[in-house]
Amino acid sequence: MEFRKEIEVAKILIGGKVEESVVEIRYDPLTLQTSRIVKKSLNILKSEGFDEEIESSKTWCPFCEERIEAMVARDPEIMKGELWKKGECRAFSNLIPYAKYSLVIRLSEKHFLKLSEFKESHFFDAFKLVQEYIKKLPNRKLFITIGMNYLKPAGSSIMHPHIQFVATENSPDYFARIEWSSLEFMEANGKDFWLALVDREREGERYIGRTDKTEWIAAFAPKGFMHFMGIPEEREFAEMSDEQLMGFARGIVKILKYYESKGFNAFNFCFFCADRLNKHFRTNFHIAARTPFGKYYWCDVFFPKIFQDESVVFFSPEDYARELREIW
Ligand SMILES: [Zn+2]
Repeated sequence: MEFRKEIEVAKILIGGKVEESVVEIRYDPLTLQTSRIVKKSLNILKSEGFDEEIESSKTWCPFCEERIEAMVARDPEIMKGELWKKGECRAFSNLIPYAKYSLVIRLSEKHFLKLSEFKESHFFDAFKLVQEYIKKLPNRKLFITIGMNYLKPAGSSIMHPHIQFVATENSPDYFARIEWSSLEFMEANGKDFWLALVDREREGERYIGRTDKTEWIAAFAPKGFMHFMGIPEEREFAEMSDEQLMGFARGIVKILKYYESKGFNAFNFCFFCADRLNKHFRTNFHIAARTPFGKYYWCDVFFPKIFQDESVVFFSPEDYARELREIW
């Protein structure tokens, strides 16, 4: 496993002085996909309130309690047209399916949550519903992801906190890459990549800490702002014990609180699930903050990501890993 990085130094003339600016190009240790860390500080964490948007979106939101029963799409087959419920969570079909099996799980009764208001039970209950659904899917190879977009900068059209479940017969591009790469890794090293990564990173400068059955690290080659990974002891999502699911829920809540303390309010996360895949693959979880939502927010996915598939970030993993480790 290699943690390769290259440095480029740019010179700029500003105010009559030459200034040097460092750019780090890092290679993902599994896929070799590059990320670019631009070390020149950019003030992206300036955010304004958006109370008006919260109030206006509440008047039509299909996930709010008073509309959800009447408005959401149902799954006629596996869920037999029912709305599945657990705690504040509600599971139903995605009105715009991304694959053969495509669900939405609403997380909270409240229409809007600050990042520090997300509770462990919101995620834990949603994960239990997802487990129940996976167990009812046909027993063949599927690529299963569970993702979350929170607020418009993260790509969410609906403010109300929700996660998405997608199970497809056709692998998403990056899922295919990590699957091939992890098969190669297993053949060469005799253990799965994620366990090897945890062994390598534990006690290192990107290690954050542990929650029940889960290890947390900052990704070496971040795919977004403050990209953290969660690696579980138990391999397949549908088979995970309550303790394992709680390990994820606790870690996510801690990270969201940290994001809020840094001025963020929007984020994405994604689980790549090992279910229906072989032993070389272990469920792995990724979370990253997005530019804060507010009146003047801008999109942090620009031409390098759209056309070159390379993420550009402005923070060093070792710096934010140290900060989060101190409060973990
Ligand atoms: Zn709502």
